[in-house]
Amino acid sequence: MKIGIIGGGQLGRMLALAGTPLGQQFAFLDPADDACAAALGEHLCADYDDREQLRQLADSADVVTFEFESVPAETVAFLEQFVPVYPNAESLRIARDRWFEKSMFLELGIPTPEFANVLSQAELDAAVQQIGLPAVLKTRTLGYDGKGQKVLRQPEDALDAFAELGSVPCILEGFVPFTGEVSLIAVRGRDGDTRCYPLVHNTHDDGILRLSIAGTEHPLQAQAENYAGRVLDKLNYVGVLAFEFFEVDGGLKANEIAPRVHNSGHWTIEGAECSQFENHLRAIAGLPLGSTAKVGESAMVNFIGEVPAISKLAAIADCHPHHYGKAFKPGRKVGHATLRCTDSATLQTRIAEVKALID
Ligand code: AMP
Repeated sequence: MKIGIIGGGQLGRMLALAGTPLGQQFAFLDPADDACAAALGEHLCADYDDREQLRQLADSADVVTFEFESVPAETVAFLEQFVPVYPNAESLRIARDRWFEKSMFLELGIPTPEFANVLSQAELDAAVQQIGLPAVLKTRTLGYDGKGQKVLRQPEDALDAFAELGSVPCILEGFVPFTGEVSLIAVRGRDGDTRCYPLVHNTHDDGILRLSIAGTEHPLQAQAENYAGRVLDKLNYVGVLAFEFFEVDGGLKANEIAPRVHNSGHWTIEGAECSQFENHLRAIAGLPLGSTAKVGESAMVNFIGEVPAISKLAAIADCHPHHYGKAFKPGRKVGHATLRCTDSATLQTRIAEVKALID
């Protein structure tokens, strides 16, 4: 079976690494001539709205998926005429726009921070009155790794904030005094079978994910799975969906969803019986899903800007380095390592060993 992937970055690369043993072949559409997934399949080097190349991808693939959510809606609509695309266009439409996403959470009874639609500075002023400060102004689309957002603490912070974010549609969200951030990676097959990985605890710095820990069972696992199930069924979703939550007042508040494999699920390659990448491919290919059970306790440390010497990483017990083959650049995700142990204390020691190589 041939899988077409819109985007040829590290997520596409790890999908191909997981799907090759299943006998799948891959084609990537990505305008970057150094797309790091290209080493693992055919590379159609073209813009995401290049109809000729999209048609070629659709004709050569049995199913198409994507590795980022800001794929133009017209691209998905065009592809869907010729080939099945999973997750579906509606899932993408909702997940790529914070206003639609949060409105869906409300409709489904999933707790989320108070929010308001902001289409002008006047609407921002009104939203600040309604929600109060501190609050977070975020662009509705295209934000990632903390980009496209601004925390408003004082009334003065709001004065030019709409223009500072580019005068594009935004939402204002109440600031959540969270005690932790967790994410749930869920997968739903074509037949509706749904499975979830254990909740992971995430640490961000400068808006970029640094560390995910899949340790002992989280007390809010059932709540997270219940919320994810509502979204997956509502969207008739097929594939992996990542659900990010704030932990606050002993419960969960939904932050956002990502309609794709996710950085906080990279640990599943070594830390779960079947990885998020393989399960995404199984789902979209109509295969039975694999077990999401974890194998011991795991942590994933992201490498931002550069990857430490592989020889040093390999010297750490049960440490699994992943080098994405991308040019090193400050702020860029260029690799990660998964650490796997049988107990939390050893896991913390190993995390410290990897962090020492980064610092
Ligand atoms: P996002 O792109 O929405 O995931 O935001 C990136 C990071 O900013 C989150 O992981 C949080 O650490 C922080 N953040 C986002 N929204 C809020 C909020 N409403 N209250 C507090 N912190 C937030």
